[in-house]
Amino acid sequence: MNFDKRAQLIRKYDVPGPRYTSYPTVPYWKNEPLSNEEWLQSIHRNQKHFSSDDVSLYVHLPYCESLCTFCGCHKRITKNHSVEQPYIDAVIKEWQLYKSAGLEKSRIKELHFGGGTPTFFQADELVRLVHSLLENQQVDPSEVEMGFEAHPNNTSKEHLEKLHTLGFRRLSLGVQDYNPRVQKAINRIQPFSQVKKVHELARGIGYNSISHDLVFGLPKQSLKDMLFTVEKTLELRPDRISLYSYAHVPWVKRTGQRGFDENDLPTGEVKRELYEQAKLRLLDVGYLEIGMDHFALKEDSLAQAFLSKNLHRNFMGYTTQNTPMLIGLGMSAISDSWFGFAQNKKSVEAYIDGINKDQLPVFRGHLLTKEDLVIRQHILDLMCHFETELGVHDSFDFNLNVLLRLKGMVEDRLIEIDGNTLRITEEGIPFVRNVCMIFDQSLQSSASREGVFSRTI
Ligand code: SF4
Repeated sequence: MNFDKRAQLIRKYDVPGPRYTSYPTVPYWKNEPLSNEEWLQSIHRNQKHFSSDDVSLYVHLPYCESLCTFCGCHKRITKNHSVEQPYIDAVIKEWQLYKSAGLEKSRIKELHFGGGTPTFFQADELVRLVHSLLENQQVDPSEVEMGFEAHPNNTSKEHLEKLHTLGFRRLSLGVQDYNPRVQKAINRIQPFSQVKKVHELARGIGYNSISHDLVFGLPKQSLKDMLFTVEKTLELRPDRISLYSYAHVPWVKRTGQRGFDENDLPTGEVKRELYEQAKLRLLDVGYLEIGMDHFALKEDSLAQAFLSKNLHRNFMGYTTQNTPMLIGLGMSAISDSWFGFAQNKKSVEAYIDGINKDQLPVFRGHLLTKEDLVIRQHILDLMCHFETELGVHDSFDFNLNVLLRLKGMVEDRLIEIDGNTLRITEEGIPFVRNVCMIFDQSLQSSASREGVFSRTI
């Protein structure tokens, strides 16, 4: 596709839209408040329907020592490490509450530590947490996928060794951009030598899936910076690379994203060019584009899952584990029973207070309708496989409306329809969120998305 044509499409489709880690997306959830009883009913419905004890566990570890000004995560900034022990105690107790409520036989297939900064915690606190979560479960590392987000500035050899001994084989390093000017703008100073040190230590210890997270569209980031960052990343040849679009949502994170001016942000075609050029380089050296914003070496398990159409997506992002239930532990964490979503309270104090009252600290969620479940499957298929089957579970009206709305995308050659199969074309991959938005009923009926979502491009 030539540059003019791409620029024209970017102007047409660069609109505010969700990233679809769930459907319906969080702003359209209907159940607030969500009671413990409603949430547990949804979990029991899952157990009845899937007859499976497999669970994915996500643990949100929210503390960070300093604030990165581009950050959109739920975090708490502090240098006071006395917060570690009570927080870990609360997470352990939360899992006990779930076990007493019917998940006592659960088999954990996936365990992921995210944040915040998981390695803010002492290695021994993380070990204590893992032991408690996996109590009574035999862990064969080849059967349980265990990974954590590693901040290059505070991930120690002790963290890497102790977590590896427990069965962790996967880590993702937050890189963002290597240019000092960009790092200063986002208040995240970490030279390449630091990332290299942690990466090589991890490799030496035996981590066999290392991911680097890069971000395009950051303040003061030029095409030269992006390509420099990609070249430095390739020197280490991580198994996976995420190339995230910087989500500028100052209305959500008022304190975190105030450290730079709107004029410092590359937007529209300029921003997309950062992604396109980085992508070309990654494809050129053997990475495969899988799902949205993700690349992996062909031999990596995520690439294999994509090729065999076994890739799955949940609140943790893309995964090879298609477990029917995801339980999110910790402040702000989101759980997914397939039939419902639930989010924990968003302040550490409210979260711990809920646990101390022997209550699951959920405060809002969404119980999916029959129609939600059909749309959810379409969106999941599009995000994971770049195609979906129309008509199988859809009503005639739904189908007709979707087909009418897809017409422009067929004309723009972003998608093709072959019988019942809707396939996103090579040119259409950057617009996958826009294709999903066509199916999104809650979005169709809402007045405005400005001030709710970041832009799709
Ligand atoms: S980007 Fe990571 S380390 Fe920085 S403030 Fe956000 S959660 Fe903390």
